[in-house]
Amino acid sequence: MTKDMQRALAPAERAVLEALFDTMFPGGENNPGAVEIGAADYLDKALANVYAHHLIEYRDVLAAIDAASPDGFVRASAETRLDIIARFERGELAGLPENRDRTSFDLIWRHLREGLFSDPVHGGNRDFAGWRAVGFPGAQFGYRAEEQALNHKVERAPQSVIDLPESARLLGTPAVHESAGEGEPDVLIVGGGAVGGFLAHKLVRQGLNVVILEAGPARTGRERSMDEILATAFRNEGGAVKFNDEVPTWRTRPGERARRAVMSQGLETALGGNSIAWGAVAMRFYEEDFRIRSATIARYGEDRIPVGSTMADWPMSYDNLAPYYDEAEDLLGVSGHAGNRADPARSRGNPFEAPRSRPYAMPALHTSGLGQLFADAAKAEGYHPFPLPAAINTTPYRGRHACTYCSFCSRFGCHVDAKASAQNTVLPAALETGRLKIVTGARVMDIVTDDSGRAVGVRYRTSNGDMKFQGGGTVVVATYAFENTRLLLLSKDRRHGRGLGNETGQVGLHYMTRQQPSVYAFFEGLALNRFIGPTAQAMAIADLTGDHFDHTDLDFIRGGRIAAFNQYLPVEASGILPPDVPRFGKAWRDFFLKSYNSTSMLFIDPEILPYENNRLDLDPDVTDSLGRPVVRITFDIGDNERKLMQFLQDRAERIAKRMGATRTWRRQFLTGPISTHDVGGTRMGHDPETSVVDGFGRVHDTPGLVVLGGSNFVSLPAVNPALTILALALRAGDGVVSQGAGQQVEAVPA
Ligand SMILES: Cc1cc2nc3c(=O)[nH]c(=O)nc-3n(C[C@H](O)[C@H](O)[C@H](O)COP(=O)(O)OP(=O)(O)OC[C@H]3O[C@@H](n4cnc5c(N)ncnc54)[C@H](O)[C@@H]3O)c2cc1C
Ligand code: SF4
Repeated sequence: MTKDMQRALAPAERAVLEALFDTMFPGGENNPGAVEIGAADYLDKALANVYAHHLIEYRDVLAAIDAASPDGFVRASAETRLDIIARFERGELAGLPENRDRTSFDLIWRHLREGLFSDPVHGGNRDFAGWRAVGFPGAQFGYRAEEQALNHKVERAPQSVIDLPESARLLGTPAVHESAGEGEPDVLIVGGGAVGGFLAHKLVRQGLNVVILEAGPARTGRERSMDEILATAFRNEGGAVKFNDEVPTWRTRPGERARRAVMSQGLETALGGNSIAWGAVAMRFYEEDFRIRSATIARYGEDRIPVGSTMADWPMSYDNLAPYYDEAEDLLGVSGHAGNRADPARSRGNPFEAPRSRPYAMPALHTSGLGQLFADAAKAEGYHPFPLPAAINTTPYRGRHACTYCSFCSRFGCHVDAKASAQNTVLPAALETGRLKIVTGARVMDIVTDDSGRAVGVRYRTSNGDMKFQGGGTVVVATYAFENTRLLLLSKDRRHGRGLGNETGQVGLHYMTRQQPSVYAFFEGLALNRFIGPTAQAMAIADLTGDHFDHTDLDFIRGGRIAAFNQYLPVEASGILPPDVPRFGKAWRDFFLKSYNSTSMLFIDPEILPYENNRLDLDPDVTDSLGRPVVRITFDIGDNERKLMQFLQDRAERIAKRMGATRTWRRQFLTGPISTHDVGGTRMGHDPETSVVDGFGRVHDTPGLVVLGGSNFVSLPAVNPALTILALALRAGDGVVSQGAGQQVEAVPA
């Protein structure tokens, strides 16, 4: 790479940037400032490469900042600089670029933090100065349990991702095909993510020929391992090309103009889908989650159903799904302690869990010092803490390594394939049968029907822009909640003028998305070492979940889960501040350096109910680069959920105080519409007037077409969704294939 490609800013602009960064993160007695750490070098290089599309905005911002002082920003006094930055943050400087979706301050603040605390491989964090300042040892693995003890001093020299040994890497990428070849498969699956992979595996083992069309590339999970910004900021900026090109828009109510949606995590466009990036918490729903409406009415009366809520029972019971939960857990390899059955260690499990026929395949991840602190406090409050079950190996499992507690887990690929994904479990096994063909770079544009209205195939766009047709005996759409809905709405024919599956106007309704109104807890002087261990290495309580507690005298229904997770990486962590700590200057620097290794989060997963107004449709104003409308999200949280979240935050704060937190603060209730748990849009049910698909994912009004994934969910219990998504897909594999798509399956009594 030439020198020019490494630097985008002119010398005068660079000088303003350096003055800005050094004022925002100044040097102190024991730490270098932002420029010495290399934050300006990092950004200049990124603006010449992955952030080139932000260059014009930076030029405008730096000019506006420079013009705010008569002698220029560089020559301004420290006090004047701070005043200018405060005005910049409030958007009050003349000449700042206008952006409806976020402020320029937000962008620069995030980039500064990346330059300070990301892996030196990206050009900042020189000689690990940023990491040394907070005590983060970088890309490490093979942590021992005692290193997670409270106040243990971790004696490891910082290490970059480029220092990792090749031997840490095991499995390869499944071999993919250039094309689907001649002839028509029995089943054509759109989307090679979690659902696509597990369903394909099931079908080929039953002797069927299957083709998967996947929009993204095939890559190993480890390509996204152990590098905080490669897996997060860069993934969203440059990596997930398709998804970033079509980010949905969001408004809180009908009638408003929508703007670009907030993404809390970003989504993966690659073979394996979000099963590469997931945190691997693999938990079953509770028995009563499948009949929330009838159970609520039976216990509290119909008037307790919140106004405007479209709460309904699922078209199946827990018992119908239990064998498929077993099957999914077996394929993934789940570690945990069963709480109520079939496990000698059940006193350590979740006492509320639904009946299981067997123990987990492996013991739970070990309990960290923080986990134990949480568990002791929760017990003292009268709760029943348990380790979250996780699709993470705690012993070698079917050729995959045990977890190394590296802590680059949720959002990352696993460097040793200890975390199960479609790519390192079912896809290689399915390919071995010779009956599966996977075509990557195949972006499906719409579903094609014949004269009778039956789905017969799809049109897709190859990576070089050619349009192709692929037929299939049954067409399965498994592209995550947004694209599932979008593809149906974009696919029209003579019989389906409003889109496939949409004869009764149900497509897009009942959208739900997880909000994460967590409570942060600062334990001054106590080293927590949360930079060790996967997110899923968590202790949790389910006492306040669902209807596990009496709501008679409460002003809301349903509940949520509270948990103390691990994985705390410094770019993200440097943005977590109590409301009274500013985002720049000495106060920010001092707070972060002191708090990084002493801050915990009590993560709250509230149940989100469906409402009439919350839905997905096609945005009439915003299109992707191919001129196709993006999804428009209409979503706000209901009054019931606001009260529930307040209640859960109160309880979490009490636990945190009992744990010894010296200060706590709360995250906002509405944390954005794109979380990792987006569900609804193609609701399942028996009645075509109120649902899009049946309990096997078959579209009521379009024979030959199946839609699978969280979009089929009827409700969003306070449990991570993927295990249920997979169980439903495996059940659909039995139902659809043995009975033929398009035929009616008898209603299964709930
Ligand atoms: C950071 C993160 C952490 C998570 N943690 C957890 C967790 O701990 N526990 C849990 O239960 N869940 C978790 N989830 C959610 C979980 O990953 C998803 O529920 C699950 O992956 C959904 O499976 P899916 O097959 O429906 O979608 P995906 O896995 O997203 O797969 C969809 C696939 O379709 C492809 N695709 C999209 N559009 C097209 C098109 N037009 N043509 C062709 N292909 C297309 C995509 O590229 C992708 O490969 C997490 C998600 C994320 C992002
Ligand atoms: S499972 Fe997660 S924490 Fe364990 S080695 Fe893999 S990425 Fe690291």
